[in-house]
Amino acid sequence: MSLASGPGRAVGSSSDQKLCIQKHVDYIKNLDSRRDELEYWLTEHLRLNGVYWGLTALHLLGCPEGLPREDTVRFVLSCQQESGGFGAAPGHDAHMLYTVSAVQILVLMDAVDELEKRGLGGARKVGTFIAGLQDKDTGAFMGDEWGEMDTRFLYGAFNALSLMGLLDMIDVPKSVAYIQKCENLDGGYGIRPGAESHAGQIFTCVGALAIAGRLDLVNNDRLGGWLSERQVEKGGLNGRPEKLEDVCYSWWVGASLAIIDRLHWIDGEKLAAFILCCQDPESGGISDRPGHMVDVFHTHFAIAGLSLLKYDGVKEVDPV
Ligand SMILES: [Zn+2]
Repeated sequence: MSLASGPGRAVGSSSDQKLCIQKHVDYIKNLDSRRDELEYWLTEHLRLNGVYWGLTALHLLGCPEGLPREDTVRFVLSCQQESGGFGAAPGHDAHMLYTVSAVQILVLMDAVDELEKRGLGGARKVGTFIAGLQDKDTGAFMGDEWGEMDTRFLYGAFNALSLMGLLDMIDVPKSVAYIQKCENLDGGYGIRPGAESHAGQIFTCVGALAIAGRLDLVNNDRLGGWLSERQVEKGGLNGRPEKLEDVCYSWWVGASLAIIDRLHWIDGEKLAAFILCCQDPESGGISDRPGHMVDVFHTHFAIAGLSLLKYDGVKEVDPV
């Protein structure tokens, strides 16, 4: 779904702060050269996700060639396990979240065919791992063989399989019925049936329904009302009532609103101004809220949020 048809306002010209595009590009490109820093090793369990966040941010900043293609593809393939799934880093157990990142990176680099040539099997082998994590009775998805259920994993499965054209490998209608069970009276969705509404889970449920072509099941006005109440005085968004604002909800809330065509229900100017206050204008990178340490996760979701708002100089993202 493209925002081009939506009524969202273009922003960026009236804020006092500008997005430091080149600083953020340099910050992301240099992440991999900091291997001597403790933080690099502490985040090893996020490595493949980190590559996806950095690469996507570079694409949105107009620098798609920012990471070396051959090194990146080789690293992704080195994370694949015999099951067809991917771990966070070489030798780590395969999990849905890293497998989705692997597929997204290969798609971004137009390198899905490398799975056939140099991986442990083609796209269908990856699809088999993902499809094997669906609970045949409920339609829900586990993250790995240990069986934890979460609507994040369901969305991840839909995302990766649809990118590879393999949605027919799973029971889509059963998953759709499961998502419906996760809907609450406030119009939102939770991590599993009966769980409280949370913006992150709403994004995964609404995104999965969009991929399934079943947005007709969403109560747009009720959900749009709940989501637009996530904007706090300072312009940022929170994930649930009474919680602090956080830059990453610019994406989880913003993309959900964009998918149901209600992004104009929040103040885009105020949100963009909040996001810009979270950047490090000297060393690049963006943090969860002003004055905090920057990281690649929040850098990515901040830029993706600005993209939803059609910020000057940022490429348009598909909210689904
Ligand atoms: Zn966050």
